Amino acid sequence: MAEETPIIAQYRGIKAQYPDDVLFFRLGDFYEMFNEDAVEVSRLLNLTLTHRADNPMCGIPYHASKIYIARLLRMGKRIAIAEQIGEIAKKGLTERKVVEVITPGTATESEYLDGNANNFLACACIEKDQVGLAYVDVTTGEFRATGFNEKSLRENLAKELGRCSPREIILPEGLRSNENVNAILASLSISSVSYYPDWHFNSKQCYDRLVKQFKTANLSSFSLTETSPEVAPAGFLLDYILKTTNSESDHIKGISVYRDSQFVIMDDSSRRNLEITSNLRDGSVQYTLLECVNNAKTAMGGRLIRDWLSFPLTNEEQIVSRQNHVQVFVDSVSFLRKVREQLDGILDIERLAGRIAMDRAHAKDLQALKNSLNLWLKARPSLEEKGFGFSDSSDAEKITALIENAIDDDPATVFTEGRIIKEGWSEELDEWKKIQRNFNSVLEEYAEEERQQTGIQNLKIKNTGNLGYFIEVTKGKLDKVPSHFIMKRTLVNADRYTTEKLQQLEEKLNESGSKIIQLEHDLFIEVRNELKKYVLYLQQTAQEIAYCDVTSSFADASVSHGWVRPEISGNSREFLVEEGRHPVVEQHLPKGEFVPNDLSLYSGDKGKSFALITGPNMAGKSTFLRQNALIALLAQTGCFVPAKSARLGIVDRIFCRVGASDNLAKGESTFLVEMTETARILRSATDRSLVIMDEVGRGTSTEDGLSIAWAVSEHLLNTLKCKTLFATHYHELTRLEHDSISQLCMDVSENGKDIVFLRKVIQGASENSYGIHVARLAGIPEPVIERAQEILEKIQLDAGDEANVIETVKTAAAEKKGLTYAGGLFSEEEMVINEILSSDLDNMTPMAALQAISRWKKSLDGR
Ligand code: ADP
Ligand code: MG
Repeated sequence: MAEETPIIAQYRGIKAQYPDDVLFFRLGDFYEMFNEDAVEVSRLLNLTLTHRADNPMCGIPYHASKIYIARLLRMGKRIAIAEQIGEIAKKGLTERKVVEVITPGTATESEYLDGNANNFLACACIEKDQVGLAYVDVTTGEFRATGFNEKSLRENLAKELGRCSPREIILPEGLRSNENVNAILASLSISSVSYYPDWHFNSKQCYDRLVKQFKTANLSSFSLTETSPEVAPAGFLLDYILKTTNSESDHIKGISVYRDSQFVIMDDSSRRNLEITSNLRDGSVQYTLLECVNNAKTAMGGRLIRDWLSFPLTNEEQIVSRQNHVQVFVDSVSFLRKVREQLDGILDIERLAGRIAMDRAHAKDLQALKNSLNLWLKARPSLEEKGFGFSDSSDAEKITALIENAIDDDPATVFTEGRIIKEGWSEELDEWKKIQRNFNSVLEEYAEEERQQTGIQNLKIKNTGNLGYFIEVTKGKLDKVPSHFIMKRTLVNADRYTTEKLQQLEEKLNESGSKIIQLEHDLFIEVRNELKKYVLYLQQTAQEIAYCDVTSSFADASVSHGWVRPEISGNSREFLVEEGRHPVVEQHLPKGEFVPNDLSLYSGDKGKSFALITGPNMAGKSTFLRQNALIALLAQTGCFVPAKSARLGIVDRIFCRVGASDNLAKGESTFLVEMTETARILRSATDRSLVIMDEVGRGTSTEDGLSIAWAVSEHLLNTLKCKTLFATHYHELTRLEHDSISQLCMDVSENGKDIVFLRKVIQGASENSYGIHVARLAGIPEPVIERAQEILEKIQLDAGDEANVIETVKTAAAEKKGLTYAGGLFSEEEMVINEILSSDLDNMTPMAALQAISRWKKSLDGR
């Protein structure tokens, strides 16, 4: 191995302190990576791998580093930035030090962030069977925490992490081998998870850390005591932020500790199944409820909408207050349009405030803040007139005045350009700038003086980068050069001189240059520090803007999609929806094609609490189920709902157990997942809950599935008495008898051998599963369909009564199989039909279906 150079030795020393991070090592105009970092990053970012003294190395230009850092952060990497400190050594080694660690959860530059989503950093701890979870958005200062019993860890931690979806999570070393935690992490795909020694999570120290941060005597105003489980993770996060960002975070001024009961409880899989903020297909926002209601004009509003959808309210007064504000906009569409226009163009005041607090804001940020506040000051009065309450506007006026007077209208982002502070703000600075500005005329005056004195008419003062200023005299005039000219350089046709006076002038110019840079820097920091006093005010203002943005965005959705204000009541157990629609499906169908449907449920002892919905595949059962869950959720965020009218008792939980989704990739059997989630519903639903069960029991054999579905239904009906929508393809369930059951089915019209799905929910039970019809829709060849029809009729005749159909099919299938093997009595055709009839379309992936069709085709081709 080659001898280690001093630079590599220095690198190794620093890297040893940051073993888990990618180390960006500043060398001149580049950040270099070495060894394992270089190998990994060159692969990740597609960079050329070179070598230095036998060490693999790759580099990125300093000025373009943000793009690369952004990409690494997205992959969950943490980047330690080692800068050159102090004088750059001409010889020997320049000192280098890590000035900050950029991590996915503590990044502050807009290049690394998604404007419309919070950038949460989370931490969870377990102590004495209590779980504490805290999460913070460093860019905005939002800080939240909650706690729960370890027994419900699996459910609650997944639920909470699911709705805050942190970019980064930190856990005590002790949890590294906790199976429950690992299962949750695997299901949530958080890209950056790191572990710290357990002693970092000491409650006492963390408590003191929080007290210090919030500048309070104790934490009682945040409902925290020294033994609260939230204290350790919250306190740790503050330390972690300080260490990684290497700057104060005074904008984190408090923590909101919340309890489950304040919001609608929805487990993580229910949230996913309802596709609230991300869809099931690719996790993006397309075809989600969020996309449907989000017309936010500002990033702050965009974040708040997500928040409201993730934390629906359970308090009637709070819901009604939001509704009232939505109503204001709905009542006056012209006012709505005006406000939407005024909000447009307001930049992210909340994150700008964060940048000010963390000493990251530059002059352009301040101008952006000023312009945004000015827009807001214009928008406020008319909103106030309509009953919106805001904090006093005088601080906003002070802030805008300060920036207006102090900061250049079109400032530079770096201090070296001398374009930060506005003229008139500092006399001293203006003096120096005048010297700089007037320098050319001063020079010209001096040149003229020398021309007069020497009689050299074409004498000129010029400058070049490396020679500085000089007097140029052409060769023909050299005899006239006076003695006070000092030779600098001889060229072919001219000589270059300087003089004492010229040197003085030049010095003054250089001095003014560095003075200007220094003064601009100091004055700017002074202004920015002055603005720090207003961080809390700016955060409040940002929330007010976000509130107007979200309520007007809800109103916008309500007006353009024709939604109504639901009547909400905290005491009532009813759920009445007239002509309800699915907000997302409706948007993606041609106008007027969506068929609205009613629902009326009353939970508790009287009335129908349980809707049993039967109907063939593709009839619209799942859509109907989900639309009602979404209506409940929208209503409790304060939004209007897609219906003609709605009267809704407030629900405490929404469960949505849909189908047997394919979780095999995550190492759990679909059926086990299905049953785990069903168990959760049975354990925690109350008579105020809304339970959506779509095809429960489908993941196992028919007998098992039917029996489970039956028993689950009975428990929901007799014990829990919650509002339930239960869709099933087990027609046998329609024989379940109970006063609280409302039998519903999807209307279908038969037209010869074709059937038409009317998508209308009607009273009654569906008698036919129309599976063969669906097989035809799927493109099964007509002869096969006809044969299937024949077999079905025969089976039905044989069986006589419907209850035995499934049994008959099964025995028939088994017998046929046996016969085939025995003597080939069945034709290929019949084999195929058999297989079609016994295949479980609901649980078939498109790939498996294709393979099956190809198999059938092969066997039929070979006839
Ligand atoms: P099921 O659960 O009964 O198999 P789905 O609810 O999945 O049926 O609906 C199948 C398709 O029918 C949906 O993708 C949607 O395009 C359409 N659909 C469902 N309900 C309606 C409706 N009320 N109006 C119009 N189209 C609907
Ligand atoms: Mg369905």
